[in-house]
Formats: sequence, structure tokens, C-alpha cells
Amino acid sequence: MKNDIQIAQENEMLPIVNVAETLGLVEDDLKQYGKYKAKLDWNKIDSLKNESDGKLILVTAISPTPAGEGKSTMTVGLGDALSKIGKKTMIALREPSMGPTMGMKGGAAGGGYAQVQPMEEINLHFTGDMHAITTTNNALAAFIDNHIQQGNELNIDPRRITWKRVLDINDRALRNIVIGLGGATNGVPREDGFDITVASEIMAILCLATSLENLKKRLGDIVIGYNMNRKPVTVRDLQMEGALTLLLKDALEPNLVQTLYHTPAFVHGGPFANIAHGCNSVIATKTALKLADYVITEAGFGADLGAEKFLDIKTPVLEKTPDAVVMVATIRSLKMHGGAEMASLKEVEDVEAVKAGFVNLQKHIENMQRYGIPVVVGINQFVHDTPAELTALQRLCDEINIPCILASTWENGPDGGIELAEAVVDACEQSNQFQPLYIAEDTSIQEKISKIVKEIYGGSDVQYTNKAQNQMRQFARNGWGNFPVCMAKTQYSLSDDPKKLARPEGFTITIREFVPKIGAGFIVALTGDILTMPGLPKKPAALNMDVLEDGTVTGLF
Ligand code: ADP
Repeated sequence: MKNDIQIAQENEMLPIVNVAETLGLVEDDLKQYGKYKAKLDWNKIDSLKNESDGKLILVTAISPTPAGEGKSTMTVGLGDALSKIGKKTMIALREPSMGPTMGMKGGAAGGGYAQVQPMEEINLHFTGDMHAITTTNNALAAFIDNHIQQGNELNIDPRRITWKRVLDINDRALRNIVIGLGGATNGVPREDGFDITVASEIMAILCLATSLENLKKRLGDIVIGYNMNRKPVTVRDLQMEGALTLLLKDALEPNLVQTLYHTPAFVHGGPFANIAHGCNSVIATKTALKLADYVITEAGFGADLGAEKFLDIKTPVLEKTPDAVVMVATIRSLKMHGGAEMASLKEVEDVEAVKAGFVNLQKHIENMQRYGIPVVVGINQFVHDTPAELTALQRLCDEINIPCILASTWENGPDGGIELAEAVVDACEQSNQFQPLYIAEDTSIQEKISKIVKEIYGGSDVQYTNKAQNQMRQFARNGWGNFPVCMAKTQYSLSDDPKKLARPEGFTITIREFVPKIGAGFIVALTGDILTMPGLPKKPAALNMDVLEDGTVTGLF
């Protein structure tokens, strides 16, 4: 079997203008970045706003394990299969971060015969959005320090600045730093630190903004820290929102690319799914809904994180609820939830482990049903899955009346996803009464967390540290109680303990601290130790990467 990059390099892309034509777009609607990538011009996006919406399909997954689920692969494969059965389809994906690409994970543009392309460019500098986000973030940091240097009119407390610098590379040495050393002309010394770009509030804001005006408002609302009287200081106080909007103006326009089979795809925005909300941009999803009859999008990590945030944070802004959810699972991952060891996954058939691990899938299905959305289970087939394991899973899904469809899009491209596409079309026709978990404006922070923990995670209680309790009181005084809560939790377990696989019960979640992201419009609740600047592993994925003399890229998965 060829690897992802070999498959992508052998495939011939269509000029992006031709791909755009299939959506009824013309050359003037595009800002082209070479032959195969384009941004959709803001004027065109604006002109579509009164068009009706297509069907929205959210792809999510069971709790991830090291065995892998393949959500992006399934998202792309399903999009291609829907195109193949004659549906006007668009895919709306997140943009990969170079941190995980160079570190653990390699590329993130789907896999096998279900990929978006040009994968080398999507995985690296693409259309420069990450650069724009990084620069916007760091421009704000520079202006904060300059404000202090120039007399500190706003009386900002240098010890209470919460705005950090960012970089889109994993670099643990920058997590905690001291800046401004070297004497009076080199700034006021203070402790600072770096986060990864995709964990930044600017990334979350770009993904939740609905227009340039809304982007500017959100940027103005950012709280950068506190003054000597412990009152929040905003970007608006610094009068920086205009300049920051300018720096992000082009990045706000969604990037159009294509799959191996020329299905049009927006790849735009990529916030982390733990510290942020883990979904591609509202503008890309919204615009895709205007251009196509079926839009497939994905949310990061498992459904307890990505889908919950899609439904409770993104959906209210998008003003469109999903028509169907595809819950991705793999036999390998279910076996790990059922107690099998990673090393034995390929060699040993283990029907009992599939059955034991099914409880994880079942809990995520129940959660999506709780929102009132029809669910289809999509099994991402791996070559080592055995018929007995697949039949066992099929039976378990039959027992709870959920369509369970085997898809081999990774191996067979769109042909491997036809049955899944048909099941999804059927699911989209079912009645759909969306029930939000909470109405953010009417529910206290504590109640919101309690609902997430009890109804989504299946836990029994929530504990708060003293710090978190004090913050909740302070937030109520600041009028921040109305925002949705963005849980920062391990992706590996429904609980906050990454070792508790399957379907843990009776656990308590501890909220360590809150981080207000007022510009993004949510309050992050930190459970456990969540890293906002990852480190590199002993053997980073980058060690396999190279570029040949003729410019051919190798080793990017
Ligand atoms: P996720 O979105 O869940 O992080 P991806 O779709 O990015 O996962 O896939 C991660 C990796 O797993 C990719 O390199 C992809 O090629 C590989 N992969 C996905 N599905 C399969 C499959 N069915 N068989 C083998 N490898 C797969």
C-alpha cells in the first residue's frame, strides 16, 4: 500500500477555478493562491447570505485511542461518496497545525484514497492564515509591553497579564519565559510564555466570527489581563481592535481546495479541541451550506469534546443545527476500550474486546441522541479487522437500532463509502428536533458544567478548587456568567483521567481553574493538566521529512 503523500502526488488536481465552477462560482469570486488553492472573496460570501442552507452533517468519533479513528479520512471519504451518488457536496475541514505535523502526528488532510490536496501545502504554510493569526496575536503582545514601557496609562499590572505570545511549532522551552531583560530601553521585565497558535484566542475568534464587523467586536472584547485595581483590561482599552482586524482581514476568507476526486472543500481555521472549541470556521461552514446541498464537517477529538462544543458553542453562532451525526469508530479502537493491548491489535482477533469496548461508542451515541440528532455509525475499516469482529459490532448497533455502516474509503476512495453516503442521506430526512444542552444566557457557569459532566461525560459530581470558586464569583461581577463553557479535558477518557477508558461511571471532575476568552465568547474550564504549548517527542515526525532536489516532498505521511 502506498503512503498518503505518494497517493496524493500521483493524483492529478483540477485547476481550482474548475472546482469552483461546480459550485456555481466564477474566477472573479476567487483570490487565487497559485493554481490549486483560492480564498473565496468576501463580497461573494456576503452576497450569498440570503440563500437557503443545505444539509449539515457533523462527523465526530468515539474517545480517541492510540489505535486511531480516522475522522478526517471518513469526512473526506463521505464527501466524495456523496458526490459520487450525485449530491452537490462540500467538505468543511480544519486547517492542520504545524505543531502536531512536525511532532507526533504527521499531516492532517485525511488519508489513503480520502484526502484533500495539495496535501503538502495544506499541511505546511498553506495560504498563510497561521502566519496571520500568529502575527496578530504577537502584535497585541508587543503593544501591551509597549504600553507599559511608555508610561502605562491604563495602569496594567504586569503580573496579571494573561495574554501570551504564540508560535505554531511545539516548543516546550518557551512555555515559561522572562521578557524585557537588559535594562530600561529593553522593556519592563515580567514573566511571560508561549502557547501554540492553534490554542490562541485569536484562532478561536477567527473561527467564530461571522463578519468583519463581528471579528472587530470580538477582538475588541479580548481581555488581556487586569489593572492594579484588578479590573479587566481589554483590547478596546488599548485601541488595538482596528489594527488587529486589518491583520486578519484576508485570513477570515475561507480557503477552497479539492479532494483526490475533486469534491470542493473549505479548509479553514483549526482551533485545538481541548483548550478551544475544535471546529473549523463558522464562515467556511456557513458559506459551504449556501453553496452545496450537503456539507460534511468534523469536530476534533471524541464527541464528548468536539461534538459537545460544536453543538453548544459553534451551533448557536452558526444558526444551523446538524441534520445528522456520523459517529466514527474503528474495531481497533473499540478493542482498546475493551482492554486489548496496542501490540496485539493486528494479530489477535478479539470479539470479546470489541463487545466490551462498545460501551464507549454507545455513550457517545446516546449523547448525540440527547441533542435530538439522527446518528449513523461509520466504521472506518482497517485491513486487519476480522469478519467476526465486524459482525459483533453490527449486532450491537442493531440492538440499539442505530445504522452501522462499514466504510473503506481509505482503501477504496468514494466507492468504499457509497452505503454510508446513502445512510446519511436517509438520516438527513428524519425528523430532527434539536435540544441544546443549555441556553448559555439563562444558565450559570456552575449549572453548565454540571450538565456537561453529568449528561455528556456520565460523571456524578463536579469539584472546584478555591481558585476556580473565586474566579466564578469574579466572573459573575464582570458579567461573564452568560458565556458557554469550553471544557479543557483529556480526550482519551470521558472522565478527566486519561487512563479510564470505555465508559467510566461515578467519577468526579475537578475544575482547577478558568480562563476567560471573552473575545471568543466562551469561558474555558481547565480540568487536569492541559498543555497549551505541546512538546516534541523523542523522535519527531519531522525526522522522516525531506525535500528532493526537484522539489518533491517526502515523509509528510
Ligand atoms: P483523525 O482525524 O481521527 O485524527 P485521520 O483521518 O487524520 O485521523 O487519520 C490519521 C492517520 O490514519 C492518517 O495517516 C490516515 O492515513 C490513517 N488512516 C485512517 N484511516 C485508515 C484506515 N482505514 N486504514 C489505515 N490507515 C488509516
